[in-house]
Amino acid sequence: MKYIYTILFALLLSGCLGKAPVTDRNQVVFMSEGEEHAMGAKSYKEFIAKAKISKDKAQTQRIKTIGNRIAKAANKPNFQWEFNLIDDKQVNAWCMPGGKVVVYTGILQMAKNDDQLATVMAHEVAHALARHGAERMSHQKISSGVQQLGSLLLGAAAPEYSSAFSMAYGYGAKYGVMLPFSRSHEHEADEIGIHLMYKAGYDMNEATKFWQNMKAAKGEAPTEFLSTHPSDDNRISSIQKTIDKIQKSKK
Ligand SMILES: [Zn+2]
Repeated sequence: MKYIYTILFALLLSGCLGKAPVTDRNQVVFMSEGEEHAMGAKSYKEFIAKAKISKDKAQTQRIKTIGNRIAKAANKPNFQWEFNLIDDKQVNAWCMPGGKVVVYTGILQMAKNDDQLATVMAHEVAHALARHGAERMSHQKISSGVQQLGSLLLGAAAPEYSSAFSMAYGYGAKYGVMLPFSRSHEHEADEIGIHLMYKAGYDMNEATKFWQNMKAAKGEAPTEFLSTHPSDDNRISSIQKTIDKIQKSKK
């Protein structure tokens, strides 16, 4: 019981009660956006230094153009956006806090046009906008006790923190672990993502087609993205509901 007061006190001190964009869901995050962005930039730099950057100029330009349109729609002046295409057949994409995005060439087989590519990129950007990784780390810290709270707040530069951070953002493949986001985070990223792609001028109706392609690809290798982003009828029908809602509000 004593711990609960300590946690509440720490929350008040560090000002870590927030709200997710679009959905307005209340959040508890033990990390400032600034700390989160610094960690994101560092992890991204390390990743890019070792990654095989695609030499395909046209596809790289395509990723950057779509990314910049989504970035504009996201309207986050404190983000420092970056978009890179990685030559890797895995079907994957992710966005680090602060707007550091990676798309793997494998996903180009699944996304049949720019609108579908915008679907997956907006979804990943939405995870970063809603601070899902930081939120997930904060939840883990709550469950592992208050003693570690201090070390989390103070020890942001520790190497174990850095690997936990990478895993929390779903790009932990290099550590051999891909930690899926929870269903509720996935659902929220879908909803925010649809709003973003719509605002960026893309055809929302292609979103359900993209997730249908993903669903159809089940069982085919390599499908890392599918293990963290299960595509099923539930997912597709709730995306359709978000699209219907936006279309209704237009009229
Ligand atoms: Zn996701």
